[in-house]
Amino acid sequence: MTALLTSPLFDVHTHHPEKTTAEAGGIPSHSFVASGFNRESNEEVIAFSRAHGCLFSLGIGPQEIQRTEKYPDLEGAISEVEKQLAGVHADPALSRRFVAVGEVGLDKHWGKTTEDRERQFFAFERMISLAGKLGRPLVIHSRDAENECFRQLHAAHCEKVIMHCFGGKLEEAKRCADAGWLISIPPQANSERKKIIKALGISSLVIESDAPYIGKMSADALKSAEMISRYKEMKLEDVLGATAGNARNFFCIGSDAR
Ligand SMILES: [Zn+2]
Repeated sequence: MTALLTSPLFDVHTHHPEKTTAEAGGIPSHSFVASGFNRESNEEVIAFSRAHGCLFSLGIGPQEIQRTEKYPDLEGAISEVEKQLAGVHADPALSRRFVAVGEVGLDKHWGKTTEDRERQFFAFERMISLAGKLGRPLVIHSRDAENECFRQLHAAHCEKVIMHCFGGKLEEAKRCADAGWLISIPPQANSERKKIIKALGISSLVIESDAPYIGKMSADALKSAEMISRYKEMKLEDVLGATAGNARNFFCIGSDAR
């Protein structure tokens, strides 16, 4: 089926960037945003983009920053990542493809103690403020923390937000969509996700692979599009076209960007 598609596939979130679109099963135009979540993975993503020209986002995730053994100096760890992002922003060869700050956010599933959560909150606050300074939108990791993320982003007047791999409830998804944010659908079905897809307009949805954690590779974002097509009773091509358009507008990129 994929070989017949004429619409683009835009995967807004992968940790497994691939070199060629041939691996994407014959999809004519396959774009993705390679996402970093700590200093090391940010470096990998930057190196990949230097070599192959993909779009990317950089940040430090909540499940990372709460690791006190790895980051005994919280302030130092955050300022290193801040310097890394500011450096990329200032590099003309990279800045154009550096499309968002993320993933960043809150994770109460892995962050169980008050200390974990305070560290996450502190890092998130700094990443939100950096995104404002650099003029970049935010890609949010939220696990069991949708209300807290919403509160923190709303308090900071964030307008351009993608809720990556959204796992919250329908009401929470609606509140994000009402704020003009995008809900990103991974290739994994569940009953709440089905409700969310049915209830929200296509203009609030984007697709992602979250490879290699949920999808195996970036092209598996196609399965998210197939799920939306099924639940919304829309043609797959229309879902691909609409979600790619939403992603391009969000990241402010032309249709030729990879
Ligand atoms: Zn991710």
